[in-house]
Amino acid sequence: MLRKENIGAAGTTRPSSMDFPALLTVLRENWSTKLDWGTTVAVVIDGVLCIGWQDSNFVLGLSTVHTVHEASSLVTSKRNRPGATSTNARITREVFGDSPFKLLEISSFIDDYNHHMNSVDLANQYRQAYDTQKIAYRTWIPLLHWVLDQAAINAYKLASVGKAWLESHVEFRRELYRKLLDHSKLLEPQRWREPGPHNWVVRPKRQSCAMCCKKEKLRKKVLEQHRDSGIELLIAQPKVKRPEKSWSGCDFCDVPLCKTSSSFEDWHSQKS
Ligand SMILES: [Zn+2]
Ligand SMILES: [Zn+2]
Repeated sequence: MLRKENIGAAGTTRPSSMDFPALLTVLRENWSTKLDWGTTVAVVIDGVLCIGWQDSNFVLGLSTVHTVHEASSLVTSKRNRPGATSTNARITREVFGDSPFKLLEISSFIDDYNHHMNSVDLANQYRQAYDTQKIAYRTWIPLLHWVLDQAAINAYKLASVGKAWLESHVEFRRELYRKLLDHSKLLEPQRWREPGPHNWVVRPKRQSCAMCCKKEKLRKKVLEQHRDSGIELLIAQPKVKRPEKSWSGCDFCDVPLCKTSSSFEDWHSQKS
Protein backbone atom coordinates (compact mmCIF):
# COMPACT_ATOMS: atom_id res chain seq x y z
CA MET A 1 0.00 0.00 0.00
CA LEU A 2 2.77 2.40 0.92
CA ARG A 3 4.64 1.95 -2.32
CA LYS A 4 1.54 2.51 -4.40
CA GLU A 5 1.50 5.97 -2.81
CA ASN A 6 5.21 6.38 -3.58
CA ILE A 7 6.16 6.21 0.07
CA GLY A 8 9.16 4.15 1.01
CA ALA A 9 9.45 2.51 4.38
CA ALA A 10 12.00 0.37 6.13
CA GLY A 11 12.38 -0.96 9.60
CA THR A 12 13.19 -3.93 11.72
CA THR A 13 10.55 -6.35 12.73
CA ARG A 14 9.71 -9.19 15.02
CA PRO A 15 9.09 -12.50 13.32
CA SER A 16 5.62 -12.87 14.82
CA SER A 17 3.74 -11.83 11.69
CA MET A 18 2.02 -14.70 9.86
CA ASP A 19 3.25 -13.47 6.49
CA PHE A 20 6.86 -13.27 7.53
CA PRO A 21 8.95 -15.86 5.67
CA ALA A 22 9.40 -19.01 7.72
CA LEU A 23 13.01 -19.36 6.60
CA LEU A 24 13.96 -16.06 8.22
CA THR A 25 12.05 -16.86 11.37
CA VAL A 26 13.84 -20.19 11.70
CA LEU A 27 17.24 -18.60 11.08
CA ARG A 28 16.52 -16.02 13.73
CA GLU A 29 15.35 -18.51 16.29
CA ASN A 30 17.82 -21.36 15.80
CA TRP A 31 20.81 -20.08 13.87
CA SER A 32 21.38 -16.56 15.10
CA THR A 33 24.68 -17.45 16.79
CA LYS A 34 25.93 -19.89 14.17
CA LEU A 35 26.03 -17.86 10.96
CA ASP A 36 29.01 -15.91 9.67
CA TRP A 37 28.91 -12.19 10.15
CA GLY A 38 27.24 -10.39 7.25
CA THR A 39 25.21 -13.38 6.08
CA THR A 40 22.26 -11.87 4.26
CA VAL A 41 19.07 -13.68 3.42
CA ALA A 42 16.29 -11.91 1.59
CA VAL A 43 12.85 -12.91 0.38
CA VAL A 44 10.35 -10.73 -1.46
CA ILE A 45 6.75 -11.05 -0.39
CA ASP A 46 4.08 -8.93 -2.06
CA GLY A 47 6.71 -6.49 -3.26
CA VAL A 48 8.16 -6.04 0.22
CA LEU A 49 11.74 -7.09 0.83
CA CYS A 50 12.04 -9.25 3.93
CA ILE A 51 15.65 -9.33 4.95
CA GLY A 52 17.71 -11.11 7.53
CA TRP A 53 21.24 -9.98 8.26
CA GLN A 54 23.73 -11.43 10.68
CA ASP A 55 25.37 -8.88 12.91
CA SER A 56 25.91 -9.62 16.58
CA ASN A 57 22.37 -10.88 16.26
CA PHE A 58 20.29 -12.00 13.31
CA VAL A 59 18.49 -8.76 12.47
CA LEU A 60 15.15 -9.01 10.70
CA GLY A 61 13.86 -6.16 8.58
CA LEU A 62 11.25 -5.14 6.05
CA SER A 63 11.69 -2.58 3.32
CA THR A 64 9.82 -1.29 0.31
CA VAL A 65 12.76 0.71 -1.02
CA HIS A 66 15.84 -1.49 -0.73
CA THR A 67 17.29 -4.31 -2.77
CA VAL A 68 20.04 -6.77 -1.90
CA HIS A 69 21.13 -7.95 -5.36
CA GLU A 70 22.34 -4.74 -7.03
CA ALA A 71 25.72 -3.10 -6.64
CA SER A 72 24.01 -0.05 -5.18
CA SER A 73 22.56 -2.22 -2.47
CA LEU A 74 25.93 -2.42 -0.75
CA VAL A 75 27.77 0.42 0.92
CA THR A 76 31.21 0.52 2.41
CA SER A 77 31.26 1.55 5.99
CA LYS A 78 34.08 1.91 8.47
CA ARG A 79 33.39 -0.10 11.56
CA ASN A 80 35.36 -0.42 14.75
CA ARG A 81 36.03 -3.88 16.10
CA PRO A 82 33.62 -4.67 18.90
CA GLY A 83 35.01 -5.41 22.34
CA ALA A 84 35.77 -8.99 23.34
CA THR A 85 32.93 -8.98 25.82
CA SER A 86 30.28 -7.61 23.45
CA THR A 87 27.26 -9.67 22.46
CA ASN A 88 28.26 -12.61 20.28
CA ALA A 89 31.79 -11.27 20.05
CA ARG A 90 32.93 -14.47 18.34
CA ILE A 91 30.88 -13.69 15.22
CA THR A 92 31.52 -9.99 14.97
CA ARG A 93 35.21 -9.96 15.91
CA GLU A 94 36.15 -12.71 13.46
CA VAL A 95 35.66 -10.35 10.50
CA PHE A 96 38.17 -7.87 11.87
CA GLY A 97 41.04 -10.27 12.41
CA ASP A 98 43.74 -8.28 14.12
CA SER A 99 42.72 -4.83 12.89
CA PRO A 100 40.97 -2.50 15.33
CA PHE A 101 38.75 -1.25 12.48
CA LYS A 102 37.89 -2.32 8.97
CA LEU A 103 36.01 -1.09 5.92
CA LEU A 104 33.09 -3.44 5.60
CA GLU A 105 30.62 -3.88 2.83
CA ILE A 106 27.18 -3.84 4.33
CA SER A 107 23.73 -3.81 2.88
CA SER A 108 22.39 -0.31 2.26
CA PHE A 109 19.32 -1.38 4.14
CA ILE A 110 21.37 -1.94 7.28
CA ASP A 111 23.33 1.25 6.68
CA ASP A 112 20.14 3.30 6.31
CA TYR A 113 18.72 1.59 9.31
CA ASN A 114 21.76 2.37 11.44
CA HIS A 115 21.68 5.99 10.42
CA HIS A 116 18.00 6.51 10.80
CA MET A 117 17.01 3.98 13.38
CA ASN A 118 15.01 5.45 16.18
CA SER A 119 13.34 7.78 13.70
CA VAL A 120 10.06 6.18 14.59
CA ASP A 121 10.88 6.34 18.29
CA LEU A 122 11.80 9.98 17.82
CA ALA A 123 8.55 10.69 16.05
CA ASN A 124 6.75 9.06 18.95
CA GLN A 125 8.65 11.20 21.42
CA TYR A 126 7.86 14.38 19.54
CA ARG A 127 4.22 13.41 19.37
CA GLN A 128 4.01 12.43 22.99
CA ALA A 129 5.10 15.83 24.23
CA TYR A 130 2.12 17.62 22.69
CA ASP A 131 -0.29 14.76 22.27
CA THR A 132 -3.88 15.78 21.57
CA GLN A 133 -5.30 12.29 22.13
CA LYS A 134 -8.18 11.91 24.50
CA ILE A 135 -10.48 9.11 25.49
CA ALA A 136 -13.05 8.55 22.77
CA TYR A 137 -15.46 5.82 21.84
CA ARG A 138 -15.49 6.37 18.10
CA THR A 139 -12.71 4.39 16.50
CA TRP A 140 -11.74 7.03 13.97
CA ILE A 141 -11.05 9.74 16.55
CA PRO A 142 -7.64 8.48 17.68
CA LEU A 143 -6.68 8.16 14.00
CA LEU A 144 -7.72 11.74 13.36
CA HIS A 145 -5.71 12.96 16.35
CA TRP A 146 -2.73 10.90 15.27
CA VAL A 147 -2.85 12.52 11.83
CA LEU A 148 -3.16 16.00 13.33
CA ASP A 149 -0.31 15.40 15.78
CA GLN A 150 1.90 13.98 13.08
CA ALA A 151 1.11 16.83 10.69
CA ALA A 152 2.13 19.36 13.35
CA ILE A 153 5.42 17.54 13.99
CA ASN A 154 6.19 17.21 10.31
CA ALA A 155 5.55 20.92 9.84
CA TYR A 156 7.90 21.66 12.73
CA LYS A 157 10.60 19.30 11.45
CA LEU A 158 10.40 20.62 7.89
CA ALA A 159 10.51 24.21 9.12
CA SER A 160 13.53 23.57 11.35
CA VAL A 161 15.45 21.58 8.74
CA GLY A 162 14.70 24.26 6.15
CA LYS A 163 15.75 26.94 8.65
CA ALA A 164 12.39 28.64 8.33
CA TRP A 165 11.90 28.07 12.05
CA LEU A 166 14.80 28.68 14.41
CA GLU A 167 13.11 28.54 17.79
CA SER A 168 12.09 25.68 20.04
CA HIS A 169 9.41 23.10 19.48
CA VAL A 170 7.21 24.53 22.22
CA GLU A 171 7.43 28.01 20.68
CA PHE A 172 6.44 26.50 17.34
CA ARG A 173 3.36 24.98 18.98
CA ARG A 174 2.41 28.32 20.53
CA GLU A 175 2.72 30.08 17.20
CA LEU A 176 0.70 27.30 15.58
CA TYR A 177 -2.23 27.54 17.96
CA ARG A 178 -2.24 31.34 17.83
CA LYS A 179 -2.45 31.27 14.06
CA LEU A 180 -5.11 28.58 14.10
CA LEU A 181 -7.16 30.55 16.59
CA ASP A 182 -6.88 33.62 14.37
CA HIS A 183 -8.56 31.60 11.65
CA SER A 184 -11.33 30.49 13.96
CA LYS A 185 -12.59 34.08 14.14
CA LEU A 186 -13.66 33.95 10.53
CA LEU A 187 -16.05 31.16 11.36
CA GLU A 188 -17.84 33.00 14.13
CA PRO A 189 -21.34 33.95 13.06
CA GLN A 190 -21.36 37.70 12.49
CA ARG A 191 -25.05 38.37 12.77
CA TRP A 192 -24.47 42.02 13.54
CA ARG A 193 -23.52 42.43 9.85
CA GLU A 194 -26.94 41.28 8.73
CA PRO A 195 -29.76 43.78 8.24
CA GLY A 196 -31.82 42.55 11.16
CA PRO A 197 -34.19 43.80 12.52
CA HIS A 198 -32.08 44.23 15.67
CA ASN A 199 -34.34 44.84 18.64
CA TRP A 200 -33.77 45.42 22.30
CA VAL A 201 -35.44 42.63 24.22
CA VAL A 202 -35.53 41.35 27.75
CA ARG A 203 -33.78 37.99 27.92
CA PRO A 204 -34.69 35.05 30.16
CA LYS A 205 -31.32 35.08 31.95
CA ARG A 206 -29.07 37.76 33.32
CA GLN A 207 -25.75 37.39 31.50
CA SER A 208 -22.50 39.24 30.91
CA CYS A 209 -22.64 41.84 28.16
CA ALA A 210 -21.15 40.37 24.95
CA MET A 211 -19.63 43.66 23.83
CA CYS A 212 -17.96 44.38 27.16
CA CYS A 213 -16.54 40.85 27.18
CA LYS A 214 -15.21 41.29 23.67
CA LYS A 215 -13.50 44.57 24.56
CA GLU A 216 -11.95 42.98 27.62
CA LYS A 217 -10.66 40.04 25.56
CA LEU A 218 -9.17 42.41 23.01
CA ARG A 219 -7.46 44.40 25.74
CA LYS A 220 -5.92 41.24 27.20
CA LYS A 221 -4.76 40.14 23.78
CA VAL A 222 -3.02 43.46 23.12
CA LEU A 223 -1.34 43.28 26.51
CA GLU A 224 -0.20 39.73 25.82
CA GLN A 225 1.23 40.63 22.43
CA HIS A 226 3.20 43.46 24.02
CA ARG A 227 4.47 41.14 26.71
CA ASP A 228 5.49 38.55 24.09
CA SER A 229 7.44 41.08 22.10
CA GLY A 230 9.21 42.17 25.27
CA ILE A 231 7.85 45.71 25.34
CA GLU A 232 7.08 46.95 28.81
CA LEU A 233 3.93 48.96 28.69
CA LEU A 234 4.60 52.30 30.32
CA ILE A 235 1.26 53.80 29.43
CA ALA A 236 -1.49 52.36 31.52
CA GLN A 237 -4.10 50.61 29.40
CA PRO A 238 -7.55 52.12 29.60
CA LYS A 239 -9.25 49.54 31.75
CA VAL A 240 -12.66 48.38 30.66
CA LYS A 241 -15.13 47.96 33.47
CA ARG A 242 -15.81 44.43 34.58
CA PRO A 243 -18.29 43.05 32.01
CA GLU A 244 -21.70 44.21 33.14
CA LYS A 245 -24.43 41.63 33.59
CA SER A 246 -27.62 42.43 31.82
CA TRP A 247 -31.17 41.16 31.44
CA SER A 248 -31.43 42.66 27.99
CA GLY A 249 -29.82 42.24 24.61
CA CYS A 250 -30.42 41.96 20.89
CA ASP A 251 -32.97 39.35 19.85
CA PHE A 252 -31.67 39.00 16.31
CA CYS A 253 -28.02 38.51 17.32
CA ASP A 254 -29.12 36.49 20.36
CA VAL A 255 -26.53 38.14 22.63
CA PRO A 256 -26.78 39.85 26.01
CA LEU A 257 -25.85 43.55 25.86
CA CYS A 258 -25.71 46.05 28.68
CA LYS A 259 -27.62 49.31 28.70
CA THR A 260 -25.18 51.30 30.79
CA SER A 261 -22.74 52.14 27.99
CA SER A 262 -22.71 52.25 24.21
CA SER A 263 -22.61 48.45 23.98
CA PHE A 264 -25.66 48.12 21.70
CA GLU A 265 -24.32 50.63 19.15
CA ASP A 266 -20.76 49.29 19.42
CA TRP A 267 -21.94 45.72 18.94
CA HIS A 268 -23.76 46.56 15.73
CA SER A 269 -21.01 48.67 14.23
CA GLN A 270 -18.22 46.09 14.64
CA LYS A 271 -15.84 45.66 11.75
CA SER A 272 -14.78 42.11 12.59
ZN1 LIG B 1 -21.59 46.24 27.97
ZN1 LIG C 1 -28.22 42.61 16.83
